[in-house]
Amino acid sequence: MRSAAGDGTPADESRPAAPARPAGSEAEGRPVRVGVLSLQGDFERHARTLETLGVEPVRVTAPPDLAGLAALVVPGGESTTMLRLLAATGLRAPLEAFVRGHPVLGTCAGLILLARDSGPLPEPTLGVLDVVVERNAYGRQIDSFSDAVEVAPLGGSFPGVFIRAPRIRNVGSGVTVMARRAPGGAGSLEPVGVRQGAAVGLCFHPELTGDLRLHRWFLEEVAMLSLPTGDPAGPGPGGGEPGERPVAGGAR
Ligand code: GLN
Repeated sequence: MRSAAGDGTPADESRPAAPARPAGSEAEGRPVRVGVLSLQGDFERHARTLETLGVEPVRVTAPPDLAGLAALVVPGGESTTMLRLLAATGLRAPLEAFVRGHPVLGTCAGLILLARDSGPLPEPTLGVLDVVVERNAYGRQIDSFSDAVEVAPLGGSFPGVFIRAPRIRNVGSGVTVMARRAPGGAGSLEPVGVRQGAAVGLCFHPELTGDLRLHRWFLEEVAMLSLPTGDPAGPGPGGGEPGERPVAGGAR
């Protein structure tokens, strides 16, 4: 497959991960800041999840917002709208540079933006994940569903919420499939989460579940941030947002 970067450099796992940085107050007297692209879509739930885990979420809507961020989340929403807004706000080029050098988590439309090829779109994708993605491949809004997803780095099952989700049709050799599901309980597993270096893309929406494990994994294991200890963020009784359901599997 051709390079995920589209610039002739090989796509591999050796993208620089962020150096380990404390997310707590030790470093500069303030929490580490993690951006959430906030042009459109469900950025608010990601921001609340990051906050619960002890990092400071930063809404990214203009180029200066990227300064000093340790990592970025690209949320779900409408990928065509997000791509148009990226072009209109002048955020496209700085964002493209940022995601090439920093950890990034894309969920649903975020995955569509990060992929090398997501089919016909008004603007090119960012191409940091060497995958081919098909938009809306599970059907329309009414065909949205929840299903258990097997997430290898978590060593178990995660509640997958799929909303007009994309399907990962092809995975490049430098890409690790880190989440899978069995459609309709079938024996064959399909990829629903991928990682390439410090870029992660998910077809589903962990921010809608109250289960913090995937965000925690991204921050700690991919972005190499150390989260504050003793935070109330572990899933299960006492963790998560009020009213959100407790999550099977317990805290790490
Ligand atoms: N179908 C949307 C798109 O193509 C993605 C849906 C989502 O992010 N939940 O951008």
